[in-house]
Amino acid sequence: MTEIIDGNEIADRIKTELEVCVETLGNHGVTPGLATVLMSDDSASGTYVNMKQRACEEIGIKGRHHELDPGTSSDTLEDRIEALNENPDVHGILVQMPIPDHVDEQTILERIDPMKDVDGFHPENVGKLVTGDPRLKPCTPHGIQRLLAETGVETAGKDITVVGRSNIVGKPMMNLLVQKDNLGNATVTTCHSRTNNLAEKTRNADIVIAAAGVPELIDGSMLSEDTVVIDVGVNRVDADTGKGYELVGDIEFESAVEQADAITPVPGGVGPLTIAMLLYNTVKAASLQENVDVDLP
Ligand code: NAD
Repeated sequence: MTEIIDGNEIADRIKTELEVCVETLGNHGVTPGLATVLMSDDSASGTYVNMKQRACEEIGIKGRHHELDPGTSSDTLEDRIEALNENPDVHGILVQMPIPDHVDEQTILERIDPMKDVDGFHPENVGKLVTGDPRLKPCTPHGIQRLLAETGVETAGKDITVVGRSNIVGKPMMNLLVQKDNLGNATVTTCHSRTNNLAEKTRNADIVIAAAGVPELIDGSMLSEDTVVIDVGVNRVDADTGKGYELVGDIEFESAVEQADAITPVPGGVGPLTIAMLLYNTVKAASLQENVDVDLP
């Protein structure tokens, strides 16, 4: 029987443990704070930020939401980030991507104090991750590691194919999985839009992690029997639903489930872990900044 991995259940377990950490911080007079900054009219981005803020409230993190007009200048956005860097009540800062084209994404990411960089995208945090001394790990790849561990899937010695090489998912995923630690020790193949014969790479894998942003790119014929399949993709495709669209992953679920040993659904797989690990990073950032030890899950 193929296991359908329940991301919500795993995320809820992590959140319950994080609540205890928030209580510990509270006993030392610290309320962890997360500032989110939205500079976009995109409805999906707005929805993601709301979900993140709601999740904060659920476990006692103080959320502070900042909404800027999409026409705001880079200088104004940078000033806002600087003010948040200086604010001792704010332990984590998240600028929801994408931001408008007139603002350089990398400049903004580098403005955030690396100790408050709960997305884990600042070059200092990226460097620490690559050199095997991670501080704040990017939420989605970290969430996938936790999801595998909680499902009892070992990564040590496994062949893992990651499809996608973005700075947000693919590259940090690869870097985490090759680390010499109990959530790593894998042999990783990273595929991208210029990869030849993708099916050969996915068929040779014990674990496939798909993060291409291409609806149903990988079907069952591209997988070997008993593969563990992690679908990161969240793609809106036109559909005859009330909203006029439905969400599908990068995996063609119906055929992949026939081959897989375990598989994540979309939605309800990786997404909830991404949010849980954002809360994890906020609690960790607060613990580091305030010098209060907490027992992170
Ligand atoms: P991206 O567009 O930045 O990167 C996509 C990557 O896929 C690129 O590196 C590209 O080379 C590769 N790619 C594209 N077409 C390919 C093909 N045909 N074959 C092989 N590789 C191909 O996207 P991203 O930000 O990394 O996100 C990827 C997907 O994951 C998106 O659907 C996004 O919405 C989703 N996502 C989900 C979560 C979550 O929490 N569930 C978090 C982040 C991203």
